[in-house]
Parts: sequence; structure tokens; C-alpha cells
Amino acid sequence: MPTPVTVLGLGLMGTALASALLKAGHPATVWNRTAAKTGPLVARGAAPAGTVRDAITASPLVIVCLTTNDGVRSLLAPEAEALAGRTLVNLTNGTPAQARELADWAAARGITYIDGGIMAIPQMIATPAAYILYSGANETAFETHRPTLEALAASKWVGKDPGAAALYDLSLLTGMYGMVMGVVQAYALIGSAGVPAREFAPLLREWVGAMTDGLVPGMAEALDSGQHLTDVSSLGINQAALPNFLTAYAQAGISDELFRPLQGLLDRSVAAGHAADGLSRLTTLLKKEQGQG
Ligand code: NDP
Repeated sequence: MPTPVTVLGLGLMGTALASALLKAGHPATVWNRTAAKTGPLVARGAAPAGTVRDAITASPLVIVCLTTNDGVRSLLAPEAEALAGRTLVNLTNGTPAQARELADWAAARGITYIDGGIMAIPQMIATPAAYILYSGANETAFETHRPTLEALAASKWVGKDPGAAALYDLSLLTGMYGMVMGVVQAYALIGSAGVPAREFAPLLREWVGAMTDGLVPGMAEALDSGQHLTDVSSLGINQAALPNFLTAYAQAGISDELFRPLQGLLDRSVAAGHAADGLSRLTTLLKKEQGQG
């Protein structure tokens, strides 16, 4: 008998999660603040709950996916008694500290808490491209529910620190946002000369892919070994080239607000004597000294 699951929060992601559970044959109870959003899921066999409490008590496994963890806290604080003895999987985006705080709150009330980070957009849920990061003090509970959670996406357990899933999630998304902002700026620059984005796209895609393929493992090697000297591309040469970018943006009439901060970091790296080092050195320079704002 497939495990009954409750899903609290039926936004774009919560709806995709509940749909995947239904598709895998799990009895699903759904609740959303705006009740009308339960309609399509109910039409596909989900049970609508009138209250959060009714939703929680319908299943041993409760998944929550709201906009923020502030919302999760205010929604669940009055429902601790109903949650006691159940497993709560929080797939809301948040910080490691928020996850640890929710885990402490749950542990003090007999609730098994698992935090998660979804590495997918709603359309990827229940496809092989999606995975979800999980962490929490009770790995056994995770293993018990893993077969159910695998209906959503592949599962990656990242440890007993409840904040670990959020840490991995935010780190991966940081890499993504950096890349996305580069793509945003590249289209702005090429577009300023009237080149259609569609024409430029294959070149950009191939270039970004080739660069990240080499850079990601190469930088890891340098960081873990502490060997930052490079025969690829030195900070000195990058520092010398960056003004060309900023000037070209200005001359093309586009903003340099995304890239201007790089100048300060490159200048700082060279001033500190790292001109011959590779870009990996910048990672070490991002670390703030104790007490630095
Ligand atoms: P949506 O904006 O589509 O949905 C937000 C949901 O949160 C709605 O169900 C909304 O209810 C509910 N909600 C917000 N505040 C409260 C509250 N105080 N009390 C009760 N319910 C509340 O967002 P998504 O579904 O896209 O995202 C949900 C989470 O999933 C976010 O943390 C997001 O970062 C994460 N995520 C999303 C991804 C995506 O591609 N969409 C990818 C990976 C993670 P109502 O309908 O009543 O407004």
C-alpha cells in the first residue's frame, strides 16, 4: 500500500509535487491557503482538506512547499500537536540557519524534520533530470520515506546537519545565478549591435558549456590543493582586460551594474600580490575576516 502523503502549499511547485505523488499511486491530501488551487488536483484524485490540521492528520508524511520559511513557521506553529509523531519534509527555499531553527522547533515537539532543496523547475518534477537534496538529524526516517520521495525526483542525502540541504541548494543556485547573469549581459551586449539573440544562442551555449566543463573541476583542484598558480588565465591578465568590457558596455549604452563589482575584486587580488594566480584565488579572497561586515 503506497504511503499516504499530505502536501501543504499548492503553488507551481507544490502542485507539481502533489501531481507526481498522485501519478505514482500515493493517496494525497492537499491544502492550500487559497482553496481554489486544490481544484485540478482534486479532479485527479487528491483529497482536499478543509483545515491545515485535517491535512496533517491524514498522512504520516507531510510535505510543505511555501514561498518562504517565515510562512512555514507561521502556518505550522499552531499545529505542533497534530504534527507530533509524523515526518515533516520542508521543500521551501531557505537558509541553513532557518532549516536548523525549524529542526530544533520540530525536535522539541516530537516531529521528525527533514529539510530539502529542490534542484528542478516544476516541469522537471518526476523526470530523470530532477533531484532533491535532503538533510536532517534522522536519516532512518529519510530512508523509510525515500521510496515515496523518489516519486518526486531522485533523492540526494547530504547529511545529518538539517542546514546541509539548504547550504548545497544555495551554493548550486549561486553557480546558476552567476551563469545566468553572464548570459543576461552577453545578450545585452550582442543585442546592442542588432544581432538577433537566436543567431547568437548556439555560440553562447557552446562557449558557456565548454568553459564550465573545464573550470568547475579545475578550480576545485586548485582550491583543495591550495595551488593557485596558473598556466591558463592569470588574474593579472583578467584585471587588464576587464576595463575593455566595462568600456564596451558604456559605449553600447548598456549598464555595467552586474560586472562592475568584478573590477574591485580583481584590483584587490592583484594588489595583494596574486597577479600570477588563476581565478580560483578569488574564492579565497571572498572569505571575510572575523568581525568584517
Ligand atoms: P508559488 O508562488 O507558485 O506558490 C507559493 C505557495 O506558497 C502558494 O501555495 C501560496 O499560497 C503559499 N504561501 C505563501 N505564503 C503563505 C503563507 N504565509 N501561508 C500559507 N501559504 C502560503 O511558488 P512556487 O510553488 O514556485 O515555489 C514554492 C517554493 O519552492 C519556494 O520556496 C521556491 O523557492 C521553491 N522552489 C521553486 C522552484 C520553481 O521553479 N518554481 C524551483 C525550486 C524551488 P496561495 O496560493 O494562497 O498564495
